[in-house]
Amino acid sequence: MNELSRCPFCEVVAAKSTLIARPYWHKKNGCLLSGQHFTEEEWQTRPLEDALQKRIDELEAEIDRVAPFLAIHGVTGYKIVEEK
Ligand SMILES: [Zn+2]
Repeated sequence: MNELSRCPFCEVVAAKSTLIARPYWHKKNGCLLSGQHFTEEEWQTRPLEDALQKRIDELEAEIDRVAPFLAIHGVTGYKIVEEK
C-alpha cells in the first residue's frame, strides 16, 4: 500500500475502519468528510491535485528550459540546469 494521502480539506490522515468494504474512515470531526468511510482507491484518488501537480511539473520544466535565455538577457533568479 502506498502512503495514505491527507484529507484535501483538513489534512488529517484516514483512520483504519472495521468495515471490510470501506476500510478507511475520516475520524476527525469538523470536516466536510467527517464520519465517511472510503475504499483505499476512493481515499487516494485526487484528480484535481494530480492535474495541478502535472501542470506544476510542466511549468517547472518550462522554467528550466528558458532559464538560459533569461540569463542571457539579464533576468536573474532562475536556476540554470543542463539539457538532458
Ligand atoms: Zn478532512
